[in-house]
Amino acid sequence: MRRKLVAGNWKMNGSLAANSALLASVNAALGNDVACDIAVCAPAPYLAQCQALLASSQVALGAQDVSAHETGAYTGEASAAMLAEFGCRYVIVGHSERRSYFAEDDALVAQKTVRVLQSGLTPIVCVGETLEQRESGKTASVVGAQLGAVLAAIDAARVADIVVAYEPVWAIGTGKTATPAMAQEVHAQLREQLTGCNAEQGAKVRILYGGSMKPDNAAELMAMPDIDGGLIGGAALKATDFLAIIAAAK
Ligand code: PEP
Repeated sequence: MRRKLVAGNWKMNGSLAANSALLASVNAALGNDVACDIAVCAPAPYLAQCQALLASSQVALGAQDVSAHETGAYTGEASAAMLAEFGCRYVIVGHSERRSYFAEDDALVAQKTVRVLQSGLTPIVCVGETLEQRESGKTASVVGAQLGAVLAAIDAARVADIVVAYEPVWAIGTGKTATPAMAQEVHAQLREQLTGCNAEQGAKVRILYGGSMKPDNAAELMAMPDIDGGLIGGAALKATDFLAIIAAAK
């Protein structure tokens, strides 16, 4: 039985005041006994603030991106070691917005994943197809290639140290959600690929669903056998919605 993970992706949203209010509400509502792992992935400038706000919280901290390089002359970049110093446990890599707006390809995403693992953090590796790819029957090959590049770059003995997020691009921020059956079909394919790389470890990997997950669809999505939690965008910015999704993760 895999413990579910609900991770919020704040994207480029927030402010010192808004972050403080949001995390105060989330912290206050969570008892000591939460049934799932929880994280929020904050914009880089707010990591120090969130590290302090989450110091004695059930909520772990994550970052939204990382450099593929270890250190050096890479203006504007933040290394995995730096993120670790600010208390990050998770790092999102290969989000579709980074793939499409910042031209990140499978090789770069794989390199970033390696760096995150080297620093002892957990990468949340995002994969997902566009609407055009889905409609032309390419979903399996696209997500298979995206995950395959990562699995080829990491040590097979470390497969259980990654989290995978299946995020159909057409469902992100659009209000359109994959049906539980549609999502499960892709998650089952990803599971097969993970166990094909390392049978024991692949069975342990959490595969999150992301794409307009909301309080009213979270429970049915997370009831599917290979959906082990959610990567939540818009709904993670509202404490009541985020808490309702956490409550649905059992
Ligand atoms: C995301 O950005 O990872 C995401 C899933 O966004 P939303 O929940 O807003 O669709």
